[in-house]
Amino acid sequence: MPVKKCESHGYYRGETCECGEDGELIIPDNKLKPLGKIVSGALRHFPKDIGVNLDQNGWADLDQLLEAISSRSRYDWLTKDDLIALVETDKKGRYEIEDNKIRATYGHTVDVSPDLPKKEPPEELYYGSSEEEAGRVEEIGLKPVNKNKVHLSEESESALEVAQASIDNPVLIVVKAKDVYKENVDIRKAAKSLWVAPEIPPEFLEIKN
Ligand SMILES: [Zn+2]
Repeated sequence: MPVKKCESHGYYRGETCECGEDGELIIPDNKLKPLGKIVSGALRHFPKDIGVNLDQNGWADLDQLLEAISSRSRYDWLTKDDLIALVETDKKGRYEIEDNKIRATYGHTVDVSPDLPKKEPPEELYYGSSEEEAGRVEEIGLKPVNKNKVHLSEESESALEVAQASIDNPVLIVVKAKDVYKENVDIRKAAKSLWVAPEIPPEFLEIKN
């Protein structure tokens, strides 16, 4: 899907805006995926390789990111508005832009810890795991795998969908999120329907078979 711009409604993904207008093309479909990968790589996994500095809250200077990416011939077309359009139309709300700075709100493997808003989570959040992992989780709780935080979903279906990418028959783990929050575990909202925590102790977990 391309990123386009409607005169009345701003950036959107797809051929036509919800209002029916065929907007101005901003990022063509074939350029969107590689751009998403390099931005995610720079803000989550290998900022130094791309040439970007992240502060402890995960923020990078938007101009520095633009310069670092657009200096590569494959991305010499990139403008600041393209980066803004990418962030504003991201379906999962992976990134945020503030005061000419940009960051990923979750999914980091580099050692940063975004100061995300603290608020009370819904009663339950969900995590999809393999049967083998679920057995271990029952004993030691949920700990991050290949990332520096545990990612929890507001919807059981999307938790299972995420897990299905790497596991055949994922098991659903229900997290008593409100109780976790009351016990002062540092649980925070990171994106549209995604919460992160450093870990979840086993007493707050229920495994659905
Ligand atoms: Zn429109």
